[in-house]
Amino acid sequence: MICLNIAFMLAISASLVSLSNSLEKKLTIAKNLKPKNIRRIKVTPEIEKTYTSFDKDKIEKKKLGIEICDFATTITKVFSEQELENFYRNINNVKIKKGLFFKACAYYAPLVNKIVVKKSKENSLYHELFHLASSKVDGKNLFVGFCQYQDGNVVGLGLNEGYTELLNRRYFKNHINPNSYNVEVLITTLLESIVTKEKMEYFYLTSDLKSLLKELQKYNSNIKIMHLVADLDYLNKYLYSEPKKHQEILLYKLEKIISFLKETYINKLKSLNILNENTVVEMLNFSEKLNLLRETGAFFLAEKENLLQKTNKKR
Ligand SMILES: [Zn+2]
Repeated sequence: MICLNIAFMLAISASLVSLSNSLEKKLTIAKNLKPKNIRRIKVTPEIEKTYTSFDKDKIEKKKLGIEICDFATTITKVFSEQELENFYRNINNVKIKKGLFFKACAYYAPLVNKIVVKKSKENSLYHELFHLASSKVDGKNLFVGFCQYQDGNVVGLGLNEGYTELLNRRYFKNHINPNSYNVEVLITTLLESIVTKEKMEYFYLTSDLKSLLKELQKYNSNIKIMHLVADLDYLNKYLYSEPKKHQEILLYKLEKIISFLKETYINKLKSLNILNENTVVEMLNFSEKLNLLRETGAFFLAEKENLLQKTNKKR
């Protein structure tokens, strides 16, 4: 057994650098931004079960049918029937289209249950199949993994893309795009360390954002959790986009997310009260991943800065 204080000290060792004061002073503007659309988060509705298996013969005949069956074979081995309710409902009637002229590599449209994949980007299919496996449509409301769309409002997009790509990397290593959503993947990896893999995968596949937030409420305040979801949406929207005047706010939000993760994790450790050696190893892993998140975020921000300078020179 190891005393909580020693473990606590390790967790907040030098590798966990605190938020810089100068940055805080600069960014009063970002502090005043309130999380949007968060209060609209709904409980996932119950929808009647339609299928409890996938029709291999029918699916094999579709475009990319072999790949879809490969995905189905793996996930039906890994997840329970309850977790796969959305998957079975959607997979048997999915429409697949290969597109040529659009910007994204691929997308899934839950309302019409359709995946469109750009030619030569077929590897993106597996990520999209996770969106299919976690989507539920209730009238005009869409519940897609950790994301909810209602009346033109979207919430949880960053959280959802991060965890979708995390699962893709976990179960389909050979079908990933290493440049996709790296910051979001790291953030959701750290969240999973707090929530546990079993619960987080279950909440994702059953499109249950509300339960994920409830789980986090055991270790942090509701308002900070709301900010996390909103900040992650902001990062997802602007971190990889064309250079605009978002650099400082992005950096501020990244640091705010890192602080949240650190605080929530430490609160969880405190609630456990007694720690063993395995827990200490986990804590050091958590601390390393926090550093990696900071470095990865800084890398993408530097990329944006370069683009911004090039654009200014051209003017
Ligand atoms: Zn996606």
